[in-house]
Amino acid sequence: MGKALIIGCGGVANVAIHKCCQNSEVFTEIMIASRTKSKCDAVKAKLEGTTSTKIHTAKVDADKVEELIALINEFKPDVVLNLALPYQDLTIMDACLATKTNYVDTANYEPIDTAKFEYSWQWAYREKFKEAGITALLGSGFDPGVTGVFSAYALKHEFDEINYIDILDCNAGDHGYPFATNFNPEINIREVSANGSYWENGEFVETKPMEIKRVYNFPEIGEKDMYLLHHEELESLALNMPGIKRIRFFMTFGQSYLTHLKCLENVGMTSIEPIEYEGKQIVPLQFLKAVLPDPASLGPRTVGKTNIGCIFKGKKDGKEKTYYLYNVCDHQECYKEVESQAISYTTGVPAMIGAMMLMTKTWDKKGVFNIEEFDPDPFMDALNKWGLPWKESFTPDMVD
Ligand code: NDP
Repeated sequence: MGKALIIGCGGVANVAIHKCCQNSEVFTEIMIASRTKSKCDAVKAKLEGTTSTKIHTAKVDADKVEELIALINEFKPDVVLNLALPYQDLTIMDACLATKTNYVDTANYEPIDTAKFEYSWQWAYREKFKEAGITALLGSGFDPGVTGVFSAYALKHEFDEINYIDILDCNAGDHGYPFATNFNPEINIREVSANGSYWENGEFVETKPMEIKRVYNFPEIGEKDMYLLHHEELESLALNMPGIKRIRFFMTFGQSYLTHLKCLENVGMTSIEPIEYEGKQIVPLQFLKAVLPDPASLGPRTVGKTNIGCIFKGKKDGKEKTYYLYNVCDHQECYKEVESQAISYTTGVPAMIGAMMLMTKTWDKKGVFNIEEFDPDPFMDALNKWGLPWKESFTPDMVD
């Protein structure tokens, strides 16, 4: 059917590449490209012979638009799947525009020198993508990603109007380290040490980091502490869900993670302000990333499950209704299948599905879109088929 260029070869990309190779009918050829070509070659060596997808590799610095344009012109992909870091979103979108190539990512743009992520920078490309006749699908991971698809599905099939959404992200996995992050440590710590916020009655209400805590009894997992965070899908869902009054996002954290994080913050290790060390400028958070375990190495040692989903409250036929859509994923099962833990798995599978939606023209609108702006049904079917089956409850416990 077609060709995908995958940029980045970390934890999430490793899963997406495995999934593309399982789906050779759609992904006839892929190219894996990052700054460290040896990592791309290692994944290629592992998968070649197990798939009929033809795998190419290349070296690219995705901060450099000219390098990206040259690579796209050489490989001529139908879609570019950006699984590098949020810092590269705009350079990759520029290269897609220049070469009229479709674009998919899993995280919104964040400037490297400010820990602030929002869609404004990428939404500014809407007209340009439309005029070029190409599609940018923003946020095709799990959260953002599947959470947006779940919201669109709930609105289409279960409600006349959704008024409240609580997105709950529970990782009950245990990797045995006192402190480690399940995806890129720099991005993860920037996210969780920022102020929290939720959207209510037309505006964002800001909270201090970890100020709002709840305990929730997660299906198939049990009771966990969870904390309110700002998260990027709040911004797009607030615009795309008519009648919405409040959206909150909660993530579970264990006490050991929180105690370590507080201590690292207190001593200045999570700062993104460069400091001078032995005549060299270093960013404390980037140094911390270098000493923490690589998330990709957690796979073999992580046991337990994740449960990520959305609880909706709204109206159907004039009556109040609640509805919970979620996925439960087992770290060890993921490892057996693709040698990754569940956080990379739950992101890499929807990334492959998003790329597939554009390659097969199942989703075919020109411009820049968030995932909930498309028909959720084919994506929901694909989740069941490709490893992230969803479950529903019509009588969920509610978060107060
Ligand atoms: P990793 O750090 O494991 O991988 C990042 C990859 O990007 C590395 O292979 C790195 O390779 C490559 N990279 C970094 N800079 C460049 C560059 N300038 N040019 C080319 N390649 C580059 O991160 P993860 O796999 O954990 O996360 C990937 C993305 O997924 C992140 O944006 C993250 O925010 C997002 N994510 C989204 C989630 C969701 O649910 N929506 C959940 C989890 C993650 P090299 O250094 O060799 O270039």
